[in-house]
Amino acid sequence: MSAIDQKIADAARLAGRDAGDITRIVVTKFHPASLVRELAELGVRDVGESRHQEAGPKAAELADLDLRWHFIGQLQSKKARQVREYAQVLHSLDRDSVVDALGRSAADAPPVEVFLQVDLDPEADAAAEAGEAGRGGAAPSRVASLAERILGTPGLDLVGVMAVAPLGAEPRPAFARLRAVSEGLRELAPSATAISAGMSGDYADAILEGATHLRIGTAITGNRPSRG
Ligand SMILES: *Cc1c(COP(=O)(O)O)cnc(C)c1O
Repeated sequence: MSAIDQKIADAARLAGRDAGDITRIVVTKFHPASLVRELAELGVRDVGESRHQEAGPKAAELADLDLRWHFIGQLQSKKARQVREYAQVLHSLDRDSVVDALGRSAADAPPVEVFLQVDLDPEADAAAEAGEAGRGGAAPSRVASLAERILGTPGLDLVGVMAVAPLGAEPRPAFARLRAVSEGLRELAPSATAISAGMSGDYADAILEGATHLRIGTAITGNRPSRG
């Protein structure tokens, strides 16, 4: 892990940025709670999980630790309220129905930080126009209206945008598009300055395009155990 942190620091320096402004989230999906406990002993505080059925029990088992759970997988309206019970940060808010479901559960829950997930596929706007559901993330043309809905929903603290680089394409131009979306969002929500982007294979590119939150799995944990 210190090797990765060194590389993150190097990439930040190359980008003329302060590494202290970058949060490294360790993605622990498919790994047992015992691994998360070992990471916590090494000083890891921010952990990322993508499946509710796995993350819920892990968070419960590790409730004695001072961890920040980041939910990075696809959110379903039916599960959103339960995810909110252990996750302090939701990275994958990408549709109205999930925003509304979270709003309904807000009354007695503490505010939750949310990222608006953006679909960086170059065809995403055209697909949304044609009424096709994207694979994850809101098409850039839909970001403003989704952001307005989040801002109008009590209990949600919109902190920024999140994305995964599209498969089979250069990540850097995709992250540059994300940065442009982030700049547009700030006109609506000046405090939504965070950018969650960058995984094991592309975090240096993400840092060059302004990422503030990296979601790194295999480069730190090694290969994931195959799903059991
Ligand atoms: C699994 C996952 C990651 C981490 O991927 P690695 O390539 O293992 O670093 C990051 N973001 C999301 C959304 C993921 O599902």
